[in-house]
Amino acid sequence: MLYKTGVEYGDYTVNHVLGCSHGCKYPCYAYLLARRFGRVKNYEEWCSPILAINALELVQKELPNLKDKIKSVHLCFTTDPFMYGYSEISSMSVDIIDEINRYGIPCTALTKGVLPSRLYQTSKMNSYGITLISLNEEYREKYEHGSATYHDRISSLKKLHDQGYKTWVSIEPYPTPNIIEQDLSEILDAIDFVDRIIFGRLNYNAKVTEYKDYQKYYDSLVCLVNDFCENRKIDCHIKDGTSSKLYPDKDGGGLSVPH
Ligand code: SF4
Repeated sequence: MLYKTGVEYGDYTVNHVLGCSHGCKYPCYAYLLARRFGRVKNYEEWCSPILAINALELVQKELPNLKDKIKSVHLCFTTDPFMYGYSEISSMSVDIIDEINRYGIPCTALTKGVLPSRLYQTSKMNSYGITLISLNEEYREKYEHGSATYHDRISSLKKLHDQGYKTWVSIEPYPTPNIIEQDLSEILDAIDFVDRIIFGRLNYNAKVTEYKDYQKYYDSLVCLVNDFCENRKIDCHIKDGTSSKLYPDKDGGGLSVPH
C-alpha cells in the first residue's frame, strides 16, 4: 500500500482507491495508465471507484518496516483521497494519515473534493492542498464534472489554513486560452493565503499545441506565478516542461500527475 513514487514532488505515496468519480477529462493521466495496464476497461469503470477496504491494515503492517526510509507520504497520485460524495473514502484517508503520523511521518494530501473537518484533529506536521485551475463553474462541469465546486474547495482549504495547517494549491494542468479564456491573476488572488503553489501546464491534450505560441503563453504565466509568490513569500514550484526558460523539458512533456 505504501510505495516510493518517482514523480517530481513525492517521496512515498498511498493510493488506496482504484478509479475516481471526479472523472476529469483533460485527460486524467491516472486513468490513461489504469486503462493501459488493464486495471479498468473504460471511463465508466474508472468513475466507479473501488476502495481497498483493508488499506488501513496494510499500512499498519508495512509501516514498522518502512518507517526509517520514509520522509513523507502523499495522498494520492493515482486517485483522490477526499473524493466528493464518498465519505467512506475520506474517512479511510484520515485514518491512514493518523496512522502514518503516529510514526512521526508527515503527510501531504491533494484533492478536488472538500477537505473534511476531521482533518482539524490531525497532526500539524501535515499539509493539505487542493487543485485549482479555474474559477469558472462551467469549465469545472465540463472537465472535472464529479468534483466539488471551486468555492467549496477553496473554503475548506481556508478553514484548514485558519486552523494553523500548512496549505498549498496545485494549479495543474493549466489550460490554454483556446480551451478557456481566463485570468490567472484572479485564481491566484483567490488563494493568496496558501504556503505553497505548484504550477504546471496541460499535457496529453492536442488543443494545447494547436494554440499558437503556447510555449510563450506558458512562459508568461510562469513569470506571473513566480512574481506573485515572491511578493507574498509563498513557496513556488514550477512543474518540469512548463517553462522553456527556467525548467527545460527533459523528458518530452513532463510527467503530469493527477490533481
Ligand atoms: S485527475 Fe485526479 S481528481 Fe481527476 S479523475 Fe484523475 S485522479 Fe480523479
